[in-house]
Amino acid sequence: MGAGKSTVGRALSARSGRPFIDLDRSIEVETGKSIAELFAEEGETGFRRRERDAASRLVASAPPDAVVALGGGTVTDRPTRRLLLRDGVLVTLMTDVDTLAERVTKETGRPLLSGRGAREVLASLLSEREEAYAESHEVLDAAAPVEELVDRALALASEAPIVVPLGTRTYRVEVGFGVRERLADRVVASGARQIVFVTDSAVEAPWGEAAMTSLRGCGLEVLPVVLEPGEGAKHVRSVESIWDAALSGGIDRSALVVALGGGVVGDLAGFAAATLLRGIAFAQVPTTLLSMVDASVGGKTGFDRPEGKNLIGAFHQPRFVLCDVETLTTLPAADRVAGLAEVVKSAWLSGEADVAALESDAAALAEADPAALERAIRMSVRLKARIVSEDEREAGKRRLLNLGHTVGHAYEAAAGFGGLRHGDAVSLGMVAAFRVARSLGMSERRHEARAVALLEALGLPTDVGGRGSPAVLELLGADKKREAGDVRFIAPGAPGEVRVTPVSLSRLRALVAEL
Ligand code: NAD
Repeated sequence: MGAGKSTVGRALSARSGRPFIDLDRSIEVETGKSIAELFAEEGETGFRRRERDAASRLVASAPPDAVVALGGGTVTDRPTRRLLLRDGVLVTLMTDVDTLAERVTKETGRPLLSGRGAREVLASLLSEREEAYAESHEVLDAAAPVEELVDRALALASEAPIVVPLGTRTYRVEVGFGVRERLADRVVASGARQIVFVTDSAVEAPWGEAAMTSLRGCGLEVLPVVLEPGEGAKHVRSVESIWDAALSGGIDRSALVVALGGGVVGDLAGFAAATLLRGIAFAQVPTTLLSMVDASVGGKTGFDRPEGKNLIGAFHQPRFVLCDVETLTTLPAADRVAGLAEVVKSAWLSGEADVAALESDAAALAEADPAALERAIRMSVRLKARIVSEDEREAGKRRLLNLGHTVGHAYEAAAGFGGLRHGDAVSLGMVAAFRVARSLGMSERRHEARAVALLEALGLPTDVGGRGSPAVLELLGADKKREAGDVRFIAPGAPGEVRVTPVSLSRLRALVAEL
């Protein structure tokens, strides 16, 4: 209220030629009543229902480039907010209570204000709605000049970032060719002055040095940490080297850890950030396909112990993620192809439209076409953002992301260090999952055939015949040691129809042995 939604919306429309819709006005036109009358007659609950219906109709039928000024309470309804975040670019205009109060007291006809002190009402609304307003593509300072707000909103519309909505911990994932060049801007906007910059020695020369130079060019203090490349570095001593660089550099709680590299760098830097001074901010600039589509989003961080992978860790969400497709140009082709297994997994979890899109992009992806890679990354990140926002701590739906991993991990571990790439193991694990699901009566041969054809078109391995060695069967139980009872098996059916089902370990072993 008083933030200037209609004013900025109209200016945005005038500048860009996009049609303008004022949601409150369209409700008034439709009902022939003013918002104040509707509030008086139907109460706030009745009005919110109208608002919710109007917003979902708008998403379904408004011109795709429309500029919409929402009502101040529209986004307080979670399903509406998620719909707007998924299908649009949602901008929150926010400023301090005094400025807002000054603006609204000049106006009349604000039903929530009738008979009450504007400052008091606004302060209580802002605190009630804090989490909802934070879930947007960006929170802009409503006190800034209108033309500046228009510039930023138009930039957001063309950048089309993906939002991971998590209340006040909401963040954006930006995907595209060259987006790493936005790093310094995003760091400056975060307010941090000291940057603990973590990378590995394979990524430092092609991408890390230029990134550090651009940060220093903005007057930021950079504390570099260059790790050894690969899974072998995913141990506590690497975490210590990040802690030491940060502490000997004299960081304070406003410092930011930036991870530039694959999943190993991201997991280590994220864990160090989660623990430094009891938790400081961190940002991800993933440079492998696997880390773009999976590891960099969702906040799982940690490192390995001799007893197993990722046994020590913490949930710590990044502040922002920049997925630069261009960095994949230096990634060995076999690593890029392996990353596509997680893309197939995401598409299968998402549904028919994304599987079909991936099938038509398969040839382009196999040739590393940047536009096709960008589409694949966006699809996977959207899916992961949706799942993480519904189940951040993996108490339910997030388990679906383990599709292909139950058996895949066993294949990977049995092959020994360097024997089978993670993505290749996931590809084989997915084929195994389709077959096991079929034996359990939960899937059909045609789904497996379609998934196998897609994996093969992307250059991934699918031949699971004879892979159920005694070592693999033994390793199938490795995760179970940490969980009482049955294995939670992820059973894939048709695209979009993937279920978690309990299967006893002995049954699973017997089925995998027969593959
Ligand atoms: P990685 O970080 O080891 O990178 C693979 C190799 O590619 C490394 O040698 C690295 O130096 C090199 N590399 C990275 N980017 C490059 C580039 N642009 N050009 C040239 N070389 C480059 O491994 P990964 O496959 O990215 O990630 C695997 C790790 O991610 C595992 O440790 C896994 O546990 C973790 N992971 C975490 C999550 C999560 O949710 N946190 C999810 C999936 C995987």
